[in-house]
Amino acid sequence: MKIYTCLCLLFLAGYLVAQNNTSALLPMPNQITSVKGKPFTVRSGKTAIYMGQPELQFTANTLQNILYDRMQVEIPLASESGHADIRLLIDPAMDGKEHYRIEITSKGITISGATAGAVYYGIMTMDQLLLGDACATAQKEIAPVHIDDAPRFSHRALMLDPARHFLPVNDVKFFIDQMARYKYNILQLHLTDDQGWRVEIKKHPKLVGKDYYTQEQLAEIIQYAAQRNIEVIPELDIPGHTVAILAAYPELGCTHTDTLPKIVGKTTDLMLCANNEKVYSVYQDIIKEISSLFPSDYIHLGGDEAVIEKNWTKCTRCQAMMKELGYQKASQLMIPFFSRMLSFVQENDKTPILWCELNNIYPPANDYLFPYPKNVTLVSWRGGLTPTCLELTRKHGNPLIMAPGEYAYLDYPQLKGDFPEFNNWGMPVTTLEKSYQFDPGYGVSAEDQAHITGVMGTLWGEAIRDINRATYMAYPRAFALAEAGWTQMKSRNWESFKQRLYPNLTNLMKKGVSVRVPFEIVDRK
Ligand SMILES: [Zn+2]
Repeated sequence: MKIYTCLCLLFLAGYLVAQNNTSALLPMPNQITSVKGKPFTVRSGKTAIYMGQPELQFTANTLQNILYDRMQVEIPLASESGHADIRLLIDPAMDGKEHYRIEITSKGITISGATAGAVYYGIMTMDQLLLGDACATAQKEIAPVHIDDAPRFSHRALMLDPARHFLPVNDVKFFIDQMARYKYNILQLHLTDDQGWRVEIKKHPKLVGKDYYTQEQLAEIIQYAAQRNIEVIPELDIPGHTVAILAAYPELGCTHTDTLPKIVGKTTDLMLCANNEKVYSVYQDIIKEISSLFPSDYIHLGGDEAVIEKNWTKCTRCQAMMKELGYQKASQLMIPFFSRMLSFVQENDKTPILWCELNNIYPPANDYLFPYPKNVTLVSWRGGLTPTCLELTRKHGNPLIMAPGEYAYLDYPQLKGDFPEFNNWGMPVTTLEKSYQFDPGYGVSAEDQAHITGVMGTLWGEAIRDINRATYMAYPRAFALAEAGWTQMKSRNWESFKQRLYPNLTNLMKKGVSVRVPFEIVDRK
């Protein structure tokens, strides 16, 4: 046995650190207690998995697959607790929806969680225990440990943009598989933009072109994600980023744009008219269908980068509306526009999300672009403006999701000279280390960050042609963001993260995931 262990360590010497059961934990759990004692040994023909509730079926099967993948053992499910030394249990007495516990002793393993999703997270952590403790795993042993873990934030999102470059269903599922490993629980799909309308709307079939998701396909993605504790939030961007719908229904634009060509993929800077009944009736239909298709409580309606001066300022209908309402600035038309649109969201018992826009797109800015209703969750994104968004949302009582460009825009290059090689408008560089420095609370007091619900990493698709590029841009920075969303600041550490990164990157590579090797964090001397 000793010789075997030595060979094993030698084999892994490339990592230059001792391998143990914490070597691959990512995001780092919030409470780990090492336990003295002998390891648990997985025995083919003896070890079995018992699940306490039928809704743990998928999670139990996932654990079977993990044990086969890591130890090459086929472990059956047991129908009675007494016959099983691995137990999966939902314990509703545990507080917090995603709270799970793992208890490993020489006698057995118990993974309990507040919900099926929480138990699933216990299994994801189990996979990383086995991945990290490679020598023990090779001997079918699992070191004793107690983990009691729950996330810092309830909203931990990545965003895909199939509107700019379409991503087929199986590619979205592949992306979901990787997100689930790192305990992301939200996938935001940016479904509509200038370059495409990607969701079938049965009442308005003209909206979609060649590449789109049928409602049945979206239902399939939603279910696939839900099994892995991931909720899919749809984003329909309005009133800007709407050339695709304007190409299908040119009459939804402002008066002076009637004669302008609307070519999907070429035309930009057009908006929906704020004073056009048909705009509201069409979106009422769309929001109704989207609401019944997506079980999420949320619908994201964009609200970003509205080129108001090229549209509402020049439109006779919009100008008449301004006059009628006594507005001084065309941007004030956002008030009646979103008041109507948000009422459709409310009609369907959903909660709206919008990108946080301020009265200037660069610092300094000191107020919202228009007064957001209190029930709107905002997403902070523009470089330099997050401290202002944080303060304004606190003052006005809007829940806030953190996606600051400086840390969370995963479509930006990871190093000077790296991808994207096309449609790069001079994007700022966001290194892995910079992403890791992200504290979603921005260092303000606990009270002043209490309205922050979570984090989101964006993968805007202008320069992301396919899923391999999407994962290349995401990983490893999405590891950093996963830890920012899950792990309390006191348990986060860049040096530790750097070491835990390698087994996870290698693991993704083995699963056929395109990743970027972060060579710049290694001392080449
Ligand atoms: Zn107009």
